[in-house]
Amino acid sequence: MKISVIGCGYVGLVTGIGFAELGNSIIFVDTDDVKVNMINALKTPIYEPGLEELMGRNKGRFYATKDYREAIQNSEVTLICVGTPSMEDGSIDLSYVKASAEQIGRSLSEKDEYHIVVVKSTVLPGTTEEIVKPIIEKESGKRAFEDFGLAMNPEFLREGNAIEDFFKPDRIVIGVRDESTRSWLEELYRFFSCPKLVTDIKTAEMIKYASNAFLATKISFANEIGNICKKLGMDAYRVFEGVGLDHRINPAFFRAGIGFGGSCLPKDIRALIRRAEELGEQPRILRAVIEVNENQPLRLIELLKKHVQSLRGKKIGILGLAFKPGTDDVRESRAILIVKKLIEEGARVLAYDPKAVENFRKLFPDIEYASSAEELVAESDAIMIVTEWRDFENLDYRGKIVIDGRRIERAMKEAKIYEGVCW
Ligand code: NAD
Repeated sequence: MKISVIGCGYVGLVTGIGFAELGNSIIFVDTDDVKVNMINALKTPIYEPGLEELMGRNKGRFYATKDYREAIQNSEVTLICVGTPSMEDGSIDLSYVKASAEQIGRSLSEKDEYHIVVVKSTVLPGTTEEIVKPIIEKESGKRAFEDFGLAMNPEFLREGNAIEDFFKPDRIVIGVRDESTRSWLEELYRFFSCPKLVTDIKTAEMIKYASNAFLATKISFANEIGNICKKLGMDAYRVFEGVGLDHRINPAFFRAGIGFGGSCLPKDIRALIRRAEELGEQPRILRAVIEVNENQPLRLIELLKKHVQSLRGKKIGILGLAFKPGTDDVRESRAILIVKKLIEEGARVLAYDPKAVENFRKLFPDIEYASSAEELVAESDAIMIVTEWRDFENLDYRGKIVIDGRRIERAMKEAKIYEGVCW
């Protein structure tokens, strides 16, 4: 199939390269010159394990451009993968989705052949049919579900595991209204053996939000129980080992620690809360999930103060800046809240991450950055572990004060003074 992919971020690039690997030809579209040029030079503008190798292997099956017209004319299906960040008030910012729908519509007005447009970006229920559809119809002069196909196909990949998640998803959700679009998408996903759930468009949109809301709830729940365990002198991980053995519960994601960050969970939960409020609902559980999550990283600072009374002038090492291991993404990383608080308290911050330093430096240009994890450990008065990169298991923590938000076993065993946030 000939596929155009709009937006070359974590979702667009991985999805496009994944489909290239399955034998499709891909045209990437992005507004960012740097990304377009890098992709055409077979370089990935984001860090995702295995992605650059996969790009090299599929050389000749894809290219990138800024030109929507060229991409739409030369493809049969378009996947919208642009960002849907939060506005100040937590509501969803649809400006990128709207801008891409406009451009797609304009390009479709010049195309005679049937074309399918698929929204893969995470959008609130109703967005595809009430916002994207009218824009494309207005700009193209065509009618959705008749002259062109329209679908919503939420994405569930996890950064850091995105390639594996692309090829082996737990499920594929296809939100459609007309038979023609449905059969095109079934054809697109014919190589995948996981369960495929075909729903109406709004339901597909809601499945993504409900999934993320549940995952976020599971984390904040684990943290709340974990905080109680800590006060009682217990290890939350032992507790959740026992809890997770119940087949109705499932052990995955009971990772008590300093909470969730990233480009999805926080903004998606906030967007769902705002939408629920607009509908006159009181999303009490979701509000509590965010509240627990905002406070959780600050517990690390409280634990630090138990051992270092005044932080003023002390050099505090932050191990890990990415919102999770395996990515260079620092959006809503827990490190942001922790570093801000440390600066407020007058500490000197020394930071390190194997992949995310450059992105973090854009947010905090004035703190110090270590050139290696070893250097950070050696030079810090106290160390805070914020991201669980596997390499952090290989460091020598002997003689050090370590406050751990992510449970690095070696630090737990070796540090002179050790505090885990929920254990
Ligand atoms: P991203 O910010 O990494 O990438 C978005 C890309 O879109 C950028 O390269 C940007 O330059 C480009 N773009 C913006 N406006 C454009 C336009 N008008 N035309 C063409 N390109 C444009 O975003 P992401 O993390 O890949 O997320 C994309 C969507 O997928 C979001 O809705 C997100 O919630 C959802 N999602 C993300 C993940 C994840 O792990 N990152 C997982 C599942 C779903």
